[in-house]
Amino acid sequence: MKISDILKTKSTISFEIFPPKSKDGDISSIYHTIDELAKLNPDFISVTYGAGGSNKGKTVEIASTIKNKYHIESVAHLSCITHTKEDIDSICKELKDNNVENILALRGDYPVGTTASDYETRDFMYASDLCTYIKGNFKDDFCLSGACYPEIHQEAACFEEDLMALKAKVDAGAEYLVTQIFYDNNYYYRLVKEARKIGITVPILAGIMPVISAKSLKRTASLCGTSIPYDLSCYLEDYYNYPEAMKEIGINYATRQIIDLISNGVDGIHIYSMNRPEIAKAVFDSIPTVLKELNHD
Ligand code: FAD
Repeated sequence: MKISDILKTKSTISFEIFPPKSKDGDISSIYHTIDELAKLNPDFISVTYGAGGSNKGKTVEIASTIKNKYHIESVAHLSCITHTKEDIDSICKELKDNNVENILALRGDYPVGTTASDYETRDFMYASDLCTYIKGNFKDDFCLSGACYPEIHQEAACFEEDLMALKAKVDAGAEYLVTQIFYDNNYYYRLVKEARKIGITVPILAGIMPVISAKSLKRTASLCGTSIPYDLSCYLEDYYNYPEAMKEIGINYATRQIIDLISNGVDGIHIYSMNRPEIAKAVFDSIPTVLKELNHD
């Protein structure tokens, strides 16, 4: 089933996982993660695509397993920056053959040591080019989605420019959007408000990443260009050397974000569960009734 069809009937709860990194290519550790996430009855699980196109086969394999063995809808992330049209044809065919109907269409980050100027003659410059290409060549075989940035994409000159690029992505075929991580819900509300003003009407799912340690929070925030609100930064200082306390605070903080988002009519909650199902479960266990308000059993 296409995620866009699910979103016509309800707000969604979803998880994001990544192919495990192992030297021998063994990905069996992911099945425990999926087993545990399946118990939480998500609307879909998305599988990331290795930066620079690494691990790409694993994304297709895992997305296919989620769909065909666990009977949960899956979304395969697909970044285009290092790919040719032929590569994209081959990956899309493989996804189609495996009954995976949903793609998160991404540009991806420039591989280390390269810049935009190295890619000017490539087949795909932006995620919107990928959307246009897949729509043109695979018609309605896939529901496409795109990434969006409440605190602006790091390469964008300003919020307005980033928003116009987002509109181009939606016009090219993205049927819903998933946000980058944010810890201050006001950035999400600003993005939704301004997007609606310029005619972006598709659902915008809120990407929430529960903090699991002070170190990982700092790293993630810096990589994603996400700001750390004052209260969270105080907890970070106070509990830096108390990892168990920091984890409890992270779960509590994410839970409060979700309650606020649901009260404000969010289109869906996408939890960056990062192969830590126990963290997603802890969030679920703390607000089971609130989550039901999101049309979720
Ligand atoms: P784009 O939408 O192409 O935007 C990139 C930049 O170009 C932005 O600054 C935008 O403003 C600008 N731009 C876009 N279109 C135009 C235009 N027509 N004219 C001028 N400027 C334009 N990375 C991975 O490698 N693998 C993953 O699995 C992955 N999953 C992600 C999931 C989510 C939900 C999010 C939010 C991000 C994910 N990323 C992933 C990271 C993503 O690849 C990077 O943020 C990347 O730098 C941008 O990708 P994009 O698809 O948003 O690019």
